[in-house]
Amino acid sequence: MKVKSPLEVYNLLPRTNCKECGYDTCMSFAAHILDRSAKVIQCKPLVEQSEKDPKAKSKLEKLLDITAPEIAEIVIGSGDSAVKVGGEEVLHRHELTFFNPTAFFYDVWDTLDEKKIEERCEWVAKYRKFYVGKYLTLDGIAVRCTSNDPSKFGNVVKKVASYGKPMVLVTLNPDCMKAALEEVADKKPLIYAATEENWREFLRLALEYKVPVVVRSSDLDKLKSLAVTFKQAGVKEIVLDPVTEPVGEGLKRTFERVIQIRRTAIEGGDKDVAYPIMVTPISAHLINADDVTKEYWEAVIGGMFVVKYADIMIFHTLKQHVVMPTLTLRANIYTDPRTPVQVEPGLRPINDPKPEDPVFLTTNFALTYYTVESDLTSAKIRGWLLVLNTEGICVEASVAGGKFTASGVKQLIEQTKIAEKVNHKYLVIPGLAARLQGAIEDETGWKVLVGPIDSGRIKGWLEKNWPPKK
Ligand code: SF4
Repeated sequence: MKVKSPLEVYNLLPRTNCKECGYDTCMSFAAHILDRSAKVIQCKPLVEQSEKDPKAKSKLEKLLDITAPEIAEIVIGSGDSAVKVGGEEVLHRHELTFFNPTAFFYDVWDTLDEKKIEERCEWVAKYRKFYVGKYLTLDGIAVRCTSNDPSKFGNVVKKVASYGKPMVLVTLNPDCMKAALEEVADKKPLIYAATEENWREFLRLALEYKVPVVVRSSDLDKLKSLAVTFKQAGVKEIVLDPVTEPVGEGLKRTFERVIQIRRTAIEGGDKDVAYPIMVTPISAHLINADDVTKEYWEAVIGGMFVVKYADIMIFHTLKQHVVMPTLTLRANIYTDPRTPVQVEPGLRPINDPKPEDPVFLTTNFALTYYTVESDLTSAKIRGWLLVLNTEGICVEASVAGGKFTASGVKQLIEQTKIAEKVNHKYLVIPGLAARLQGAIEDETGWKVLVGPIDSGRIKGWLEKNWPPKK
């Protein structure tokens, strides 16, 4: 984003404080534009004026230009399942945040047995993994043309489209790509890939079918030249593939190319390479390697480029030991460091508790909460879990920082009416909050027991300490 101060945005807005954008003032709206929680087009008065008044039109255009993300954002797919890629502002997450998680596509190919294609597509479409309060899912399916037969490729692509996931269509053959686009252009697939050899035909296809396109070359000058050619011809949605080379020196070169592209775009301000980047960790080039070695490298390369700076990846392996670590890493890299991940404070009954069961206390930092909740649930412990609002801060830091307080615990006890649900007044606090034991007892009138530091040890702790000795 070229703009650095809300005032620069504010000066281009109508400044009437009419609230139509959903914010109280134009200045507040401007501040939200800057942190990307609001979009310029939410200012309806400006959009409407721009249709009648050339001055307003030029202000709107200027606003859109100065607030556009550093890296172009493109959309693959249509409807609810469409996935956004690119749109990043910074090289390092802590400088602001990363916005659009690397999109993960998994391949099928048109010479694969029909049943196997169905199995792979279903696996991708249905995959869900619960992690820190939300389900992680896979983004789409890459359909590779290995038959070199336009009709066969077109049919397989049509079948894959029925799973409703965004698609990448993979072939260097323009005739095969055209046959596929005839079937699914309205689903807005990403077409892969335009190269030095086929770019004229792929340019025609991208323009004719209005689909995003990947340009591909390991020579960065040629890659940039392809991107410039496509842009000047009117293609707006471009992805760069600097070619993922084999493990070893090739991988090192790939890594350097990816870093160079993103640095040139963000630090150097070169808009000709400010596009999302594609990486393909498929380790098919390890032809003589066994499956386990290939899978290992796929996970390693995937992880490496989730961290720096792939916006889209095509994977091959549909096995948990490759999918799970890469997805989990992606979830962590793409959480917003400006907002601690937190859950709603309140009371959670665990395993259908009875009045005589223990009352536990934890914080609303999502990672702490889900660890405690999952430890209690999986150990089949019945109990009442009180979740204290520490603004998403973990136990140790919230005790030190004054967010985990005896008065907060008293308020929570009152709000949740836990005293009416149990027949005792014993509260088990986390081991890391031990120093608040006396203060909580004084404030609440409950007897406080200091539990273990690690919630995985609650079961053993309960065996010795529950029910409490009177
Ligand atoms: Fe200001 Fe536009 Fe929001 Fe109205 S809609 S308050 S003019 S930014």
